[in-house]
Amino acid sequence: MRRVVAAMALVVCLGCETKKAPEPEDLRRPGKVCELHGVPLQEDTFGIRYGLPDKDYLRARAELFPNAETEVLGGCVEKDRKSAQVSFCPECRSARLEWCKSRK
Ligand SMILES: [Zn+2]
Repeated sequence: MRRVVAAMALVVCLGCETKKAPEPEDLRRPGKVCELHGVPLQEDTFGIRYGLPDKDYLRARAELFPNAETEVLGGCVEKDRKSAQVSFCPECRSARLEWCKSRK
């Protein structure tokens, strides 16, 4: 019995040591300019959102604010990585805010 407890404690400790928070995914595009607004992109770090996004939002994002990058869409299968470094356009972020306000 004592041996079983010792083995379980060892497994728990190994589990703790190997579990590390992953580095943010690097999705930056240095030196790029927004194709819609013509302004240089800035850098930021954002959380990765898993799940299916709203279709209206995706359509508006493609047309009105392609570089807002207020979240990173990670798809349906959740992974360990929770954040990403991104390049964003401040004009796109303003356009996204206006679009979101207009929907309320
Ligand atoms: Zn833009």
